[in-house]
Amino acid sequence: MPLSFLKSIQTMKNNKQNLFLFALGMVSLVSSAQNFHQNKQKIYNDISKEVQNNNNLDQLAFELLDVIGPRLVGSPEMNQAHNWVVNTYKKWNIKAENVAYGEWKSWQRGTTEITLTAPRIKTIDGMQLAWNAVTKKPIEAEIVAMPFFETKVDFENWSETVKGKIVLISAYQNSGRPESQWKEHATEEDFFDYKAAKEKTNTAWNNSLKATGKNTREMVQFLEKKGAVGFVQSYFTGTMGSNRIFYSFAKNTPMVDVSLEDYGLLYRLAVNGKNPKLKINTKSKKLGTSKTYNTIATIPGKTKPNEYVMLSAHLDSWDGAQGATDNGTGTILMMEVARLIQKYAPNNDRTIVIGHWGSEEQGLNGSRAYVMNNPTEVQKIKVLFNQDSGTGRINYINGQGFTHAYNFLGTWLQNVPEEIRKHIKTDFPGMPQNGGTDNASFIAADIPAFNLSTQNWDYGQYTWHTNRDTYDKIVFEELRKNVITTTILTLEAANDPNEISNEKRILPTNTEWPTIKEPKRNSNDY
Ligand SMILES: [Zn+2]
Repeated sequence: MPLSFLKSIQTMKNNKQNLFLFALGMVSLVSSAQNFHQNKQKIYNDISKEVQNNNNLDQLAFELLDVIGPRLVGSPEMNQAHNWVVNTYKKWNIKAENVAYGEWKSWQRGTTEITLTAPRIKTIDGMQLAWNAVTKKPIEAEIVAMPFFETKVDFENWSETVKGKIVLISAYQNSGRPESQWKEHATEEDFFDYKAAKEKTNTAWNNSLKATGKNTREMVQFLEKKGAVGFVQSYFTGTMGSNRIFYSFAKNTPMVDVSLEDYGLLYRLAVNGKNPKLKINTKSKKLGTSKTYNTIATIPGKTKPNEYVMLSAHLDSWDGAQGATDNGTGTILMMEVARLIQKYAPNNDRTIVIGHWGSEEQGLNGSRAYVMNNPTEVQKIKVLFNQDSGTGRINYINGQGFTHAYNFLGTWLQNVPEEIRKHIKTDFPGMPQNGGTDNASFIAADIPAFNLSTQNWDYGQYTWHTNRDTYDKIVFEELRKNVITTTILTLEAANDPNEISNEKRILPTNTEWPTIKEPKRNSNDY
């Protein structure tokens, strides 16, 4: 019991009537917390047991990733995912709704067939990029590689030759092996040479791009105007088989990404005068515009219903694969936490709100819209936990510049079992995040909003926004730990009798607290 509390009781004792009123108030105020704190160990044990033996994680992953699939903003699948989240919560007796905040062009991915038709036949491994132009029939044309340019005039002269051609627009990779293999297996001298050659090629490529005076997007649109009929990129991540799949820059012609192996083949055939030809057949649908949504679920608090503990994870993804680790894992983590709380500890002091955001990938749009649209609600959020960094175990929490984060977060973390907690490093008071993922939208509104950072499992090189972000990359062993950690942090926060301070640290000179930003409410820039 804090000293100030004791003192207030002593003052009260001087006045019998006040003491009676005070006691009456305290009975109702402390009942849920008392209940919770009395049974806490049993609740945590029951939850841990269910997480280990009988969790819903693989079923949720199956329904979201295998059945619904990728969740590109504006696509029918994205809306299907929002509805699935609402319906799943309803099955668990948790109130949830989809809240519209804007609109986006609606595009549905179809099939992609890319075939090398000359000098020999080969199926090419690749796919169209998101929002690709809808083409009525396949195109077949000669491939040209972009040469290295020294000046803008060089580029402009060359651009007169692309009419009717398919243009290769990525840098050629000398080796398809990841650097880690070179390091492990090559002789020291050969590894050194490999690195030097790679750096030389990269520098030459970047200088050539700079010479054109255009970024890749502007270049594609310029070449399209000059009559190019298609574009092929290969956005290799450095890990075997893994390419990043974003969106097309072309307005009316197809733009596809192909594997490093096939890109190399096309490139070598083109620069060695073999006049290779490619047939590209992309199918997709334009479905007008769709509303964009956030899904918001609520487990009402009993004694402090106007104080919120918020769980946060974006529901959308890019659509090169299934969005399993970005952010299927964050999504099913928060859903499973909510299910367990509703089952084992539904009566908490504070209200628990779960935000499943739309369009994080285009600039935290769903969460920014929530902050902008709900100024009164946002002030009720006392603390927020966001997860959006892949499938690994939680291993780091930054205090985000909140002076007292050490006290409350540190105390809550003590309740996480030692074998899980020992992996979690903290940094207090830390520095406020200005972007990157959705907790940043709330930090800008002075809400202690923490990111549950994770062991990376080659997230950046392997699954993040790639064609390899699939169900099999989920590490359920790690996810189970995260369910336990997040459930305990949430219940501790929802029943902490103390106020949760949002006092901000004094920032170093030349740094400023992030400010609230407008979301994109339409797809005009895409
Ligand atoms: Zn993400």
